[in-house]
Amino acid sequence: MIKVEGLHKHFGGFHAVDGATLEIKTGTITGLIGPNGAGKTTLFNVIAGRLPPTSGRVIMDGEDITGLPPHVLFQKGLLRTFQIAHEFSSMTVRENLMMVPPRQSGERLWNALFSRGQIAAEEAQIRAKADEVLEFLTISHIADEKAGNISGGQKKLVELGRTMMVDAKIVFLDEVGAGVNRTLLNTIGDAIIRLNKERGYTFCVIEHDMDFIGRLCNPVICMAEGKVLAEGTLEEVKNDERVIEAYLGT
Ligand code: ADP
Repeated sequence: MIKVEGLHKHFGGFHAVDGATLEIKTGTITGLIGPNGAGKTTLFNVIAGRLPPTSGRVIMDGEDITGLPPHVLFQKGLLRTFQIAHEFSSMTVRENLMMVPPRQSGERLWNALFSRGQIAAEEAQIRAKADEVLEFLTISHIADEKAGNISGGQKKLVELGRTMMVDAKIVFLDEVGAGVNRTLLNTIGDAIIRLNKERGYTFCVIEHDMDFIGRLCNPVICMAEGKVLAEGTLEEVKNDERVIEAYLGT
């Protein structure tokens, strides 16, 4: 689904991503691991259109998407989860989901602008979709909570929920496990697996928790110093000498 070819991202003289080449195959939950400073987040930012690359290409389903802005990638079904912005923390969880702009044709939006009945119908539809998403994620009970009051793990589930409001093709998840308790991390893992199996989502996940990676991801790609060091099952990658060396060196 995604091919990254010879990607470089330099900050001044520093090569954060230094010729990374990798592939995220359709239908996989691909894990991206590597020591701190390996360039994982920078790579995500370039793929998701937040940062322009210095050189190299990103291809999605055969189309060159290098440097396209996030909203264009969103229309193509490429989503990166992002933290609930401060402005949205006083809105309820359900409202946060309902705020996700639809991935739909301009014509439908145009019609909606001119018909009150249509607006009401669309809103009811979006609300029903939000409730379905909350149920899928097993968090219906927090639908009316203010987003600012829920736990870190629940916020991660809401972030995932926002990708479900549109029919995402590929979702980039950055450090889902950070500061999340084990039970909630398992719930998040279950949701990712079900989205992958039942709805055909492809995922690319950056995560430090190796149990989580081992349970969810195949293949696992390990980066260090801006380059791809190894790819395979977690076991294969963990036993790769270059990977061991990269982790020991930090
Ligand atoms: P990882 O996610 O693997 O920990 P990052 O992509 O966050 O790695 O960072 C890779 C390197 O690039 C780090 O050394 C970091 O300090 C550097 N870096 C990231 N963003 C910037 C920036 N905007 N300006 C300068 N250096 C940056």
